[in-house]
Amino acid sequence: QAKGAGGNTLRFFNPEMQAAVMARVHLEADLHQALARDELRLHYQIQVDSQSRVTGVEALLRWQHPQRGMVAPGQFIPLAERTRLILPIGHWVLESACRQLATWAKEPALEALSISVNVSSIQFHQQDFVARVRQVLASTAANPNRLILEVTESLLMEEPERVREIMLRLNELGIRFALDDFGTGFSSLNYLKRLPLDALKIDQSFIKGVLTDPVDAAIVQATITLAASLGLAVTAEGVETEEQHQWLQEHDCKAFQGYLFGRPLAVGDLRLGQRHGLMTS
Ligand code: C2E
Ligand code: MG
Ligand code: MG
Ligand code: MG
Repeated sequence: QAKGAGGNTLRFFNPEMQAAVMARVHLEADLHQALARDELRLHYQIQVDSQSRVTGVEALLRWQHPQRGMVAPGQFIPLAERTRLILPIGHWVLESACRQLATWAKEPALEALSISVNVSSIQFHQQDFVARVRQVLASTAANPNRLILEVTESLLMEEPERVREIMLRLNELGIRFALDDFGTGFSSLNYLKRLPLDALKIDQSFIKGVLTDPVDAAIVQATITLAASLGLAVTAEGVETEEQHQWLQEHDCKAFQGYLFGRPLAVGDLRLGQRHGLMTS
């Protein structure tokens, strides 16, 4: 059955290694086809305010693979970045999210919702990123004031002057920026001052420990204070329990995202009009 089994090239691998290598080769070949075969999906995870009202969603990419089923982004985004397939894929994500914004804009109850889109460093640093974003906004008629781009600390560190200029140009269009996974990278506090950032997203690894690990608690507390004094909003990522939620509220965090409020879901399965995560009230 396995075509390569009789050949010379793979004979020094043990069967597991061979399987792993072939799986990766296949995954890469499949990823080239994923867009053309319409196998990519966006799931959306709600974000809520201090009253647990939905303020927006984060778009999270999924790959509906014909044999493997739903593949999570951690399993194919690094591959997409190595092969630069992240460029067409990232464009598709942006376009799909903007189309969703334009659909919600027609419904008064949903018109104010924002969509946060993760932008890979390779995508951000491509030659014509600003022009592409403009083109997507124009072709979808999405309101740029409802679009938030999530960037990472490592993205900001590559050519910081150029990054600043691109962010300012997009910011002029009305687009906002959130710094994702805050605390996990090596960002200089100087960036926070110089760049047109709107929000910090505290990484879920720190939220996990707020009740049990004094270091995590101190980092979260310090981040909330820092954000407030810089005039930035702050979102806690990965909130899973009512106890974490309560701790965060007591420490002046006002925006939340996590399984407590909702898992990432296909757009049709979202419950956007309700209060989330408040079991007791
Ligand atoms: P991220 O942007 O930090 O997204 C949050 C991740 O945490 C998502 O994983 C989400 O499903 C997960 N999550 C949310 N709430 C909870 C919770 O309460 N508990 C736990 N344990 N996890 C929670 P997901 O969807 O697997 O995405 C992983 C990463 O892949 C994202 O991290 C983001 O960096 C990247 N990614 C996703 N979609 C895209 C995309 O369209 N483009 C790019 N460039 N990267 C993407
Ligand atoms: Mg994100
Ligand atoms: Mg994150
Ligand atoms: Mg992450």
